[in-house]
Amino acid sequence: MNLRSMRQVCGTFALLGSAAASITACGSGSDFGTDSAASLAQEALCSGRVVVKNQDKADFASGVATTAPPSPAQPDVCATVKCVAFDLDIDLPRQIWRKPGGVQVAIRWPDDTNILNLFVYEGTGQQQGDIQVGSQLGVLAASAGSVLLRSVANGHYTIYVALDPAGSVDTRVPFDVVARVQFDPDVRPIRPLRPDLAIRTQSHVGFETPSFPFFGDPDPAPGETCYDSEKAEDGARTCLRFDQSFANIGEGAAELRFAIPRDPADTSHNVIERTYFSDSAAHYQDTPAGEFEFHSAHGHFHYENFAKSALWATDAKGRQAGMAPVTTGRKVSFCFEDESIDDGLWGMRGVGPRTYRAPDCLVVQASDANFDYLIQGLTPGWVDLYQWYLPGQYLEVTGVPDGLYILQTQIDPDNGIIETNERNNCGTVRVRLSRMGTPQRKAELLGPGPACK
Ligand SMILES: [Zn+2]
Repeated sequence: MNLRSMRQVCGTFALLGSAAASITACGSGSDFGTDSAASLAQEALCSGRVVVKNQDKADFASGVATTAPPSPAQPDVCATVKCVAFDLDIDLPRQIWRKPGGVQVAIRWPDDTNILNLFVYEGTGQQQGDIQVGSQLGVLAASAGSVLLRSVANGHYTIYVALDPAGSVDTRVPFDVVARVQFDPDVRPIRPLRPDLAIRTQSHVGFETPSFPFFGDPDPAPGETCYDSEKAEDGARTCLRFDQSFANIGEGAAELRFAIPRDPADTSHNVIERTYFSDSAAHYQDTPAGEFEFHSAHGHFHYENFAKSALWATDAKGRQAGMAPVTTGRKVSFCFEDESIDDGLWGMRGVGPRTYRAPDCLVVQASDANFDYLIQGLTPGWVDLYQWYLPGQYLEVTGVPDGLYILQTQIDPDNGIIETNERNNCGTVRVRLSRMGTPQRKAELLGPGPACK
């Protein structure tokens, strides 16, 4: 399957997928020329300019990327469609970069069924010498992008945002822009920069028929809730499917390296966590973080026991009931990556530049005499999302009766990944199951649940 066909299939879920926090559909002044009065009124609320003039204040804008034909007044990167352009004025105190860092420009859009590309140029990008100072291609499986303009000089720049029509389902995609100063973590005291994985609330629970042909799974028949691979490998029959999402709110990246032996006689399956230190990217420590397995049905590698899910019954007061869950499942991961920026950190300090991207996680990134390494991870400030339609995103619920339940998910339940805080890895939501045992079975997400036990 090529990536485009994956996009198209994923696109059928555009209305069901989780929307990012609150994208403000708004224009940047230059892209509403032929639009309605309503759009023009919206335009008036929007600024096509972002200003960064002190180290603590972010500036925000928003726009709508479209498939409008390209404009000769824009750089070559806007040769397929017209880019949405924003002035970026940087006017920071002198010597601000005595403390290492830069100005980060980030964009976000509602979900990964569309791809937006981000470019930043000196000046307008149209005069001789107006070089491109940063770019971020959406590629796939992302709903945000960022560039860090390290030690950037004061002056006038232009941000261009382009819809990638070949990789997008929609022809109009609203997005937000933010620009702010981001400093590197302090060097002293010299210390390992640890990640902190934090669970985010499940945003979708249901019994819809999934589709995700990227790894070769045939589409299940209409009304079917499980993939053939889930039935064959785990005996699944009735799949309650749900999203799982978690952020890295730590100081450092959570980086995993799958060490794939080059010698066929070597049967080791080691996953190594690499932790970088505050003084240099060349200063790091590798620690064992568990094992991977090769999943032949998908032709890729899994990190075992990445997350654990459980469905608990509740008592008359809505409290978790019983000594054991009604059903449990263990999730493996196949591509840990920077997918979107954590809602609570949008425009805040502590968001690193997007580093770990799909599909980089699926191809060898480094090698030594004995191993090839697949490298994947999660940058501080970023979120990884596993949508309900991906293989493995389910709990088996055959025979589970109608009722109110608590759905619990715990990331890294075996603590394979060293983190600064292991107490924020678990979260719950309340779910109502009805008409169970019939083809009209239904699951409703009622809201956040109690603290995990
Ligand atoms: Zn797999």
